[in-house]
Amino acid sequence: MNVRMSRSPDEVEAMQRPDWRWQMSNRITSLERLQEFLPGFTPTAEQIAVSKRYPFAVTPYYASLIERADVSDPIYQMAVPQAAEGIDAPELIRDPLGEHQHSPVPGLLHRYPDRAVLLLNGLCPVYCRHCTRKRFVGIEKGAASDEKITLWADYLRKHPEIKDVILSGGDPLTMSNRRLERVLEAVRSVESVEIIRIGTRIPVLMPMRITPELCELLDRYAPVWVVTHFNHPREVTPLAAEACERLVRAGVPVNNQSVLLRGVNDHPDIMESLCRSLMRNRIRPYYLHQSDIIQGIEHLRTRTSRGVEIMEALRGRLGGLAIPLYVLDLPEGGGKVPILPQYIVSQSPHKTVLRNFEGRLVSYPEPAQLDSPLDTLQRVQRGGIADQLSGVRPKALIPQGYKKPHERGEDD
Ligand code: SF4
Repeated sequence: MNVRMSRSPDEVEAMQRPDWRWQMSNRITSLERLQEFLPGFTPTAEQIAVSKRYPFAVTPYYASLIERADVSDPIYQMAVPQAAEGIDAPELIRDPLGEHQHSPVPGLLHRYPDRAVLLLNGLCPVYCRHCTRKRFVGIEKGAASDEKITLWADYLRKHPEIKDVILSGGDPLTMSNRRLERVLEAVRSVESVEIIRIGTRIPVLMPMRITPELCELLDRYAPVWVVTHFNHPREVTPLAAEACERLVRAGVPVNNQSVLLRGVNDHPDIMESLCRSLMRNRIRPYYLHQSDIIQGIEHLRTRTSRGVEIMEALRGRLGGLAIPLYVLDLPEGGGKVPILPQYIVSQSPHKTVLRNFEGRLVSYPEPAQLDSPLDTLQRVQRGGIADQLSGVRPKALIPQGYKKPHERGEDD
């Protein structure tokens, strides 16, 4: 079936009403009701069953972007439950990033030394079918309480190494300005915090929420960065572009992280067009995420080899500023690892041979002096392989419990 949506301009205008409170209170929360907004859409029994297992909601605005009520439409794929979502592939889990293991106080994640994530709520304008936090979005909805905000500020004060605080959820911008300000105020009261980031899909799902008052509020707590989540060029509508423009004009830099999704954006042409649209609107393509191993998204997962293929193609077509970093967030809370095509073909102490995007092999002469004089001045342990390279750490890191072959017993 490939039925193109036929909506009159008046119907589209009504669905795109520029009032975020109206959009929130008129969210479509059942597939039966969605039929009124998507001509030609008839949900199957399996789709209805899935929508009861994983919450479903879509703003009239985002529903208005669906052009065809079938899986050939990327917006439909991201917003409307599919029968395949109910199939549990064995290697997929509820909390793929092991977030609960890195939560010293409720709602605060401390995974990297200098960063903390605050989970402000579980409410979103749309429940994206590929969401990493499917385990609680739409289920736990309450906004951050005063008790939690105090707990978080206390934790940040006791950990001055945290310089960067990321407000996440759910979607923090579904909260009222007053509640959001309460959080911003508490975080800014901690002197060691340098920057605040807000992870939000609001510019994509409900751009009318980016009001002048909100922009003014964010500017008061500067530096505040917005990290948003466009996945497809069709999401970069004039309304979404204007919302980002308002943020940028208020001094709030906007970065974008996309998720690589099968049948939605896993093609070099689509990714190129998305990056170009973002750059035209002063939104920096920041990350392209390999999808996490979350239950319910097997049908949307791509292979990492496909991601590498796309990155290879982008390198030749776009300037460096427009190319996101392709990353895989390791299961079990292992953190993000960049995945790149291989550009170094060979290396000796004197020459490094590299290939460019056209396949040309070019050698680069290495300098005679190898060590940096700064290494002897700044031998500070920072963690990771870099410490091994600089000699701060031992040459070999041995896994816990490792025994040499002659030390192993029969049970090893
Ligand atoms: S807006 Fe973000 S947190 Fe909310 S459902 Fe979509 S991806 Fe998940």
